[in-house]
Amino acid sequence: MSVPEPVVHVAFLPSAGMGHLNPCLRLASVFLRYGCKVTLIIPRPTVSLAESNLISSFSSSFPHQVTQIDFKLTPLDPNTVNTNDPFFLQYETIRRSVHLLSPILSSLSTSLSAFIFDIFLVSPILSIADKIFCPSYINFTSSARMLSFIAYVSVLADSDQAAQRHPSKFVGDAIQIPGFTLPIPRSSVPPPFLLEGSNPFQRMIMEDSPNLTKLDGVFMNSFEELEGEALAALNEGKVVRGLPPVYGIGPLRAGEFENVDEGQKGCMSWILEWLNERAEGSVVYVSLGNRTKTRREQIKDMALGLIECGYSFLWVVKLKRVDREEEEDLEDVLGRELMSKLREKGVVVKEFVDQIKILEHPAVGGFVTHGGWNSITEAIGEGVNILTWPQGGDQKINAELLRMRGVGIWAEEWDWGTQKVVEGKEIAKKIKEMMSNESLRVKAGEMKDAARKACGVGGSCEVTIKRLIEEWKRNA
Ligand code: UDP
Ligand code: UDP
Repeated sequence: MSVPEPVVHVAFLPSAGMGHLNPCLRLASVFLRYGCKVTLIIPRPTVSLAESNLISSFSSSFPHQVTQIDFKLTPLDPNTVNTNDPFFLQYETIRRSVHLLSPILSSLSTSLSAFIFDIFLVSPILSIADKIFCPSYINFTSSARMLSFIAYVSVLADSDQAAQRHPSKFVGDAIQIPGFTLPIPRSSVPPPFLLEGSNPFQRMIMEDSPNLTKLDGVFMNSFEELEGEALAALNEGKVVRGLPPVYGIGPLRAGEFENVDEGQKGCMSWILEWLNERAEGSVVYVSLGNRTKTRREQIKDMALGLIECGYSFLWVVKLKRVDREEEEDLEDVLGRELMSKLREKGVVVKEFVDQIKILEHPAVGGFVTHGGWNSITEAIGEGVNILTWPQGGDQKINAELLRMRGVGIWAEEWDWGTQKVVEGKEIAKKIKEMMSNESLRVKAGEMKDAARKACGVGGSCEVTIKRLIEEWKRNA
């Protein structure tokens, strides 16, 4: 009698926001493609509506292969966390609720081959590792350059001669990570990391950085042609000795499950109709991701820039960080006159859109993005020209990388989008520069081909995932 093949069972735990949920579900769908059983542990309640919609759609797309388990969080008093960002409050809430995971994990009917959790949960999950009984991996949701920064922080803190171990002191003017051609200047470091005192972002990085070596591996939504230097530096022990393997399995592709039904994304059908009527490569798509609101001081100049740039545009504006709180009408904010001028030349919406459907549309030739890593890898996968306007977090580190690889331009003189107001005519000028840049278009086309190869049949993603699955089967 033949021995049945062991079942490979992988559990996933995302943190908060679409920037973390999308790559988690996309990675889970890769494992599903190769026949694995998936358990998805969902922290509840979610912060945004977009997250709950996507989770429902994912589970109903894979009714037999996916088990969904709700992880009911213990609410935290925001005053004890020192943040007014609901997503950061959620990271902290998940971190402090992690002890409640042990009974969930021990009640699973099939033993786990691997547990893959979000980057923002490293130390708390490792603290219950003795109850997980399987290899622990993180799904890293930014660039390999950003992971190198996070990992190297532990080296910098250890070498801090005054032993103050505070980032505002040990970061210096620039960070030269071993194995990297370009240093990371102080001005590109995520701003909360440099603040005096302490905040959740800073505490999380400082606590998690030295613990990365305890993981069994890191899944990275990147690939050789885009970030060969950083992936090599990480894997060759140049950044930090003892780091586990960093698997470049990107760019993660969007799945069918992301076609959330029309009722929830009501504007998509007419946006696509509008795009169908535009010439190839003629439209600029503008979006700052799922959790960055466009500052009130900047919004009118943004509108003026788009009106003046000479291209058609699709502008997705967020007025609130969290979609559940969106109430205001765009016309009330922009004024009737500006709104009607905008509508003569383009489309402006405040709904959550299907970004992949937009980026893959032939009419879209350029993308003005904050530089969130998912947006960047999605645009690279579609060969769209990129202009980055970093607003916070890892976004300058990502922008620098794109510029270095020749696939994007970065309005560096605009600094962080939270700091000054950029005039409309400046914005129009940069958009023209990005849209008409032929060398950018050639490079973007080459990177798209490399991206397709990496995530296609026989590409680096498939090879790595199949190898890991075999390894887990052997160890079962
Ligand atoms: N997104 C989307 N529609 C929107 C806004 C965002 O589909 O209206 C998706 C986008 O495609 C990406 C994610 O949400 O996958 C945002 O992640 P990213 O890393 O780009 O930025 P963040 O929002 O985390 O700052
Ligand atoms: N941030 C914040 N309050 C905090 C900590 C961070 O508003 O207490 C903001 C910060 O300014 C930046 C973002 O959170 O915009 C940093 O998040 P990052 O981009 O690294 O994370 P992700 O988008 O991947 O969740």
